[in-house]
Amino acid sequence: LTKRIHSGQSAHQLLVGGTAQRFDPGPPPDDGGEPRLDVWGFKDSRFVINPANNVVLEGSRYPLSGKELPAFLPWVRSTFQADINAQDTHPSQYPTNIPPSRASEDLLQALRGIVGEHLTVEPEQRLRRGHGQTQAEMYAIKYGRLERVPDVVVFPGCEEEVVALVKLAEACSLRLQPYGGGTSVNEALLCPADEARPIVAVDLARMNHIRWIDPINHMACIQAGAIGRHVAAQLDQHGFTLGHEPDSIEFSTVGGWIATHASGMKKNRYGNIEDIVLDMRVVTPMGILSHSTPLPRESLGGDVRTWLLGSEGTCGIITEAIIKIFPAPESQVYGSILFPDLSRGLAFMYELSQSAHIPASARMVDNLQLQINFAIKPKANRWGALKSALEKKFVTRIKGFSTDKMVACTLVFEGKRAEVKAQEKHVNSLAKRHGGMSGGASNGRRGYMLTYGIAYIRDWILNHWLIAESFETSVAWTDTLALIDRVRKRVADEHAARKLPGRPFVTARVTQIYATGVCVYFYFAMYYKGVANPSAVYHEIENAARDEILKAGGSLSHHHGVGRLRGEFLPRTMSEAALHWRAGARAALDPRGTIGGQTSAS
Ligand SMILES: Cc1cc2nc3c(=O)[nH]c(=O)nc-3n(C[C@H](O)[C@H](O)[C@H](O)COP(=O)(O)OP(=O)(O)OC[C@H]3O[C@@H](n4cnc5c(N)ncnc54)[C@H](O)[C@@H]3O)c2cc1C
Repeated sequence: LTKRIHSGQSAHQLLVGGTAQRFDPGPPPDDGGEPRLDVWGFKDSRFVINPANNVVLEGSRYPLSGKELPAFLPWVRSTFQADINAQDTHPSQYPTNIPPSRASEDLLQALRGIVGEHLTVEPEQRLRRGHGQTQAEMYAIKYGRLERVPDVVVFPGCEEEVVALVKLAEACSLRLQPYGGGTSVNEALLCPADEARPIVAVDLARMNHIRWIDPINHMACIQAGAIGRHVAAQLDQHGFTLGHEPDSIEFSTVGGWIATHASGMKKNRYGNIEDIVLDMRVVTPMGILSHSTPLPRESLGGDVRTWLLGSEGTCGIITEAIIKIFPAPESQVYGSILFPDLSRGLAFMYELSQSAHIPASARMVDNLQLQINFAIKPKANRWGALKSALEKKFVTRIKGFSTDKMVACTLVFEGKRAEVKAQEKHVNSLAKRHGGMSGGASNGRRGYMLTYGIAYIRDWILNHWLIAESFETSVAWTDTLALIDRVRKRVADEHAARKLPGRPFVTARVTQIYATGVCVYFYFAMYYKGVANPSAVYHEIENAARDEILKAGGSLSHHHGVGRLRGEFLPRTMSEAALHWRAGARAALDPRGTIGGQTSAS
């Protein structure tokens, strides 16, 4: 059917026939991927320093897995000016003292009456539902303490059970905390220490099915707890894609994407989450928010669905959504381009953003991040080493690029073959005009694949006295370069003012382009041996960086959201009237604050 539809052969018959041919693609695949509770990622993958003193990503899951990275440790030592070595570690104390459950036997009985045995009070499971992946949260579970975590975790299996949970919570004064994949990076999952009500984490993991695929009208109805990588695999089997690929796709869920207003790397072709969600069902204390039928677009004079995008676990529990799907691309090609410096790279990105041939993804890393990409190159054989040396000679001696200035853009082209070819041609000629040179498809592919492996570095370096985090913003084209410079300088100044050891590491990457501006991701890391309360110090510097971002014309967040982490900055971006409306909208749906804590929406 999918092939027939894609080929367009029977379009007339399909439309005249008139009935949607929805089908149930069955349960999600069991790929055996089990996440770890104490760090980011799957149980089978983690970075270690091997006996030969080289860094290795253990396991076999990623292209990087199992390969020695001999240049990495020396690069880390020289970049941070700190003696990082296998012997000098800060061992994780996970799980640190977990607050006991306050759930009474009566409450557990009432919950069992709704979800049966699908609940747990096991301390590590409760702890995991009480935090996301920020540096402060991860530092706390390893070296500090979370003051308050959920008292019980329930796993509803259907919307009726979610409705019953909300009714119980209203009647018994409970607080419900919706939980998807736990990849949150704004502290929205943190429980306030002073929450006196019992806290019930509502983990949507059992509501993880694609309920139907409509291959003619290009939609799928997906339960909120479905994990991104499973949805992608199932749609692919039927010749479709969501095209929504946040870097956290291995663990994040459909409900989490909606609640955080997520953005995926291929948004140029498929759109951000707000462009692909057609409809959703949300259980609130005032009843279910639902809608008659999913339509391409509607003008309703105020649509509650737009408010639920970015609701950050407040107002209601999303149970399912109807999402646009796209035919799987006929062709997928990677590319990479080197530019002599950031300003020329950005000029290229700007022109690209104004053109009619924009690839699905175009990302630009600054020089420091390009250095990381080189530093985590696996050990090459003799031929590989010779090839790299020749390439380096060509780039530096013949093209005249400086190794401490050049930047790289990685690209993913997707679509019909002819379309991809046209995009490639356009990108190549544009790149030439801006002094760029091709870095090859394999380097482009490697750049995207590294994304998933690199996510494991943060937890590993924490054990070696390096604390790191990313934060993002969006900014107009004309303010982009200045914003990047200002944030780098501010972080360096804040680091120096506190006389912190080593050298701060701050680097920028442009991850999304729009006609009007970009999304910039910063990574800041610092050596913390001998620093009292490093997580709090980090937080102060990150806040200073956020202050600088706002002063330089950037947004509070492009897609990570506000949560508890950035709530204090909201009045700098929203007027009093806007804040009033925001609080009122939440109160209208959830007057007692039953769903979610005191987040930014409060
Ligand atoms: C390594 C890494 C890479 C990342 N890359 C990206 C990226 O490329 N793009 C991007 O946008 N984000 C990214 N993020 C951030 C994060 O993955 C997103 O915010 C994601 O959308 C969260 O989804 P989740 O299912 O993990 O939600 P959770 O972390 O479980 O929850 C996040 C928030 O959503 C609420 N919530 C979850 N499910 C529901 C539901 N069913 N109903 C109501 N509320 C709900 C929670 O209460 C919480 O407030 C990244 C994070 C990490 C750690």
